[in-house]
Amino acid sequence: MKGRKLLMIPGPIEFEPEVLQAMSIPTTSHVAPNFIESFGNCLDMMKKVWLSEDGQPFVVSGSGTLAMDMAASNLVEPEDKVLVVSTGYFGERYAEILKRYRADVTILKSELGNIVEQNVIENELKKGGYSILVFTHVDTSTGVRNDPKILGQLGQKYNVLTILDGVCSVAGEEIRQDEWNIDIVLTASQKAIGVPPGLALLVASQKAMEKWKNRKTPVLNYYADFNNWLPIMRAYQERKPSYFGTPPVNLILALEVSLKQILSEGMDERFKRHKKISRAFRNSMQALGLSILPKSNDIAAHTLTATYYPTSIDGNLFRKKLNEHGIIVAGGLLKEIKTEYFRVGHMGAVNRNDIISTISGIENALTQCGHHCNLGKGTSTVLSELS
Ligand code: PMP
Repeated sequence: MKGRKLLMIPGPIEFEPEVLQAMSIPTTSHVAPNFIESFGNCLDMMKKVWLSEDGQPFVVSGSGTLAMDMAASNLVEPEDKVLVVSTGYFGERYAEILKRYRADVTILKSELGNIVEQNVIENELKKGGYSILVFTHVDTSTGVRNDPKILGQLGQKYNVLTILDGVCSVAGEEIRQDEWNIDIVLTASQKAIGVPPGLALLVASQKAMEKWKNRKTPVLNYYADFNNWLPIMRAYQERKPSYFGTPPVNLILALEVSLKQILSEGMDERFKRHKKISRAFRNSMQALGLSILPKSNDIAAHTLTATYYPTSIDGNLFRKKLNEHGIIVAGGLLKEIKTEYFRVGHMGAVNRNDIISTISGIENALTQCGHHCNLGKGTSTVLSELS
């Protein structure tokens, strides 16, 4: 289709045609046997994608921010001490959400483009009294990636629950929820899960569920309260009808298709593919003389890349030219440097052709904006990496 553009922002992403087809089939009742089976299948498959045999999955209508809200409102009681490790915009958002539930929040902010060092986090936890450690796996504003394995170990060592904001990572970045001791892994449908926006998803460990069950005070959010949703999730898991709030029927059908596709690729293969594509993308940017925002490749995300514009060009013009080449990328998000960088998502259904087209578009747009790069250098780099 000539008018079709390639959506290369870090969510919503390009979706598989079979997933989109599921969105357009006639909507059934939310208690129809086929739908109950599909919802149950989704919950079973989530545990495989999250690599959590023991966890309790939840899927509700809403965006990723609701998943953040749900984890916070159910686990936090007023005065609970919560440590937030922030690597950008979404860490700050999480701190605000936690404060609404009257948590006593301490925030450890990274320097721009960096993570917070393990010993800094550990020194804070050593002070004692914390009940929850919260972190963003991949902060979509910076493209910086935390290591959940290390943070999970710290959670275990200091006996605090861990919450991972995986909105820009689940089903793209490696996460082993049980093995790495992460108590809540949350996400939204529109990113590497590969379903149009509208679903908040999370899996809670039994330890997290215990903290919720033992609350002394009511959950301060009616819609997000596990009391409302746990019986519904359990019913679907047992293939029984149930109702609290009408589920987004077609989104759930689309989720079933997408989770099947994810599992048929296999989690290990999927993690590997995201690593390979992101490395090729970063190397191509660097071959064109551009710098990425993360301080080193070791902490760069595999689901998106944040890249600085060359100082000589106008970022808005660059993205406009790129759009004219049929490629849509995102501008900056972090207030301090919003006009200085752009972000490209490469997760989920993204394939080799999408990456090659994007890089060649970037080269073209850079040249049109008056930046002298070695035309073809980026494309040849990506071709050699993804051969
Ligand atoms: N956390 C992260 C890491 C995100 O990337 C986003 C969305 N870009 C959110 C939370 C919020 O998700 P939503 O926009 O779906 O509410």
